[in-house]
Amino acid sequence: YDVHDELLSFMSSGIYRFSGSNVVFVDPVRVLSNSYSRFRINSAGYYSRFFGVPSKGNDGNSVDSSSSMKNKKRKRNSQSLNEREKSAENRHQNARPFLVSAYESFQRATDLLHFLPSLLKEDDSMPDKCDTELNFIELGSLWQAPLYEISLSLPMENIPAEGGSQPSCCEGRAVPVFNNLIRNQSSYDLEADFLNRQYILPGKCRFFMSDLRRVHDLIPAQPDYGYNLIIIDPPWENGSVYQKAVYPTLPNRYLLYLPIKQLAHIDGALVVLWITNREKLRAFVEDELFPAWGVADISEFFWLKVKPDGSLIGELDLFHHRPYECLLLGYINAKNVNSEKIPKNKVIVSIPGSHSRKPPLGRLLSEYVPGPKPARCIDLFARELVAGWTSWGNEPLHFQDSKYFLQR
Ligand code: SAM
Repeated sequence: YDVHDELLSFMSSGIYRFSGSNVVFVDPVRVLSNSYSRFRINSAGYYSRFFGVPSKGNDGNSVDSSSSMKNKKRKRNSQSLNEREKSAENRHQNARPFLVSAYESFQRATDLLHFLPSLLKEDDSMPDKCDTELNFIELGSLWQAPLYEISLSLPMENIPAEGGSQPSCCEGRAVPVFNNLIRNQSSYDLEADFLNRQYILPGKCRFFMSDLRRVHDLIPAQPDYGYNLIIIDPPWENGSVYQKAVYPTLPNRYLLYLPIKQLAHIDGALVVLWITNREKLRAFVEDELFPAWGVADISEFFWLKVKPDGSLIGELDLFHHRPYECLLLGYINAKNVNSEKIPKNKVIVSIPGSHSRKPPLGRLLSEYVPGPKPARCIDLFARELVAGWTSWGNEPLHFQDSKYFLQR
């Protein structure tokens, strides 16, 4: 099993493991496409911010290279930092060796580096900007929301013909789209119509589109129907005006309201929480949120963001724009799990998609998930669906719009 084999396995799985290290590279387009039978993710839609941008080769953004004067000025002098900034800087300095060594492993994988620009398939074209998507957040808050229906239809070839004759059309089953648990019970991709737009639902997926006030409707009636893997990507408040325009944010204390304990499977659950690089948030999660949810045995992973030319998306030491994000992992009721199995400081490297879109983690985490297999998985504050998973949030159909897909 040599380097070349690793690239071959990456081409089908979307995951490249760097031997002898806790580092993986992920191509979300390949990983997500594995959820579909008749469709695949359009790479130009996923990697839209890099699509059509000529690849300049490594532009000197490597970790230790010198940077422009402008960037140097934006680096903070440690004497001018307040207490909280100092502790953030300390945390960064502790993470730095893992990030630098991960980036070095990535840079050594020359077969992968050569392959990176082709992750943006040239024959995939950008979805039309004028082709406007629906705003589920807005629609869901209207008084008419309970009246909106989505119609799910199986493609013709999957409908068994009665009495030998082909059905002339495929019947759509209309169900309320908001505050309703919708499932694709088949193993095939379903197409769903809602207000003149089409959505692609992967096999065996379930979703519940609602505001936080209805999240308790997800609590399973029987504890052995609970979830073994719970991924949470909250709309944390931050200063960015742009973010406020993209989706509404929630004050930290509202997260205490999430029924994580009740969602967990009785045999235990791995809980994964995306956090931002803000120190105040970290203290809230460690001192209040995780204890309230009953999450213990915490480890930390990093998501390091690179461009298609292999350089970091920004300088590693810039104070307010780190080219990485953190995720915290912990267990609920992990009687039978050996949390020692979770490596400390694992680094996931990938090319970022749209604003705030996270790489898919299911495959990477499956070995640490407790309880029966296949694991029951849920994505909270989701903007997409995954085959076999449950997705909840106020816009879980967001990236399921057919404009983000191509036929296989
Ligand atoms: N994990 C997602 C991805 O990779 O694309 C990004 C999630 S984003 C950080 C947070 C999501 O929470 C947004 O879709 C936002 O609309 C949603 N959200 C904000 N307020 C909410 C609320 N009160 N109830 C439900 N969802 C909410």
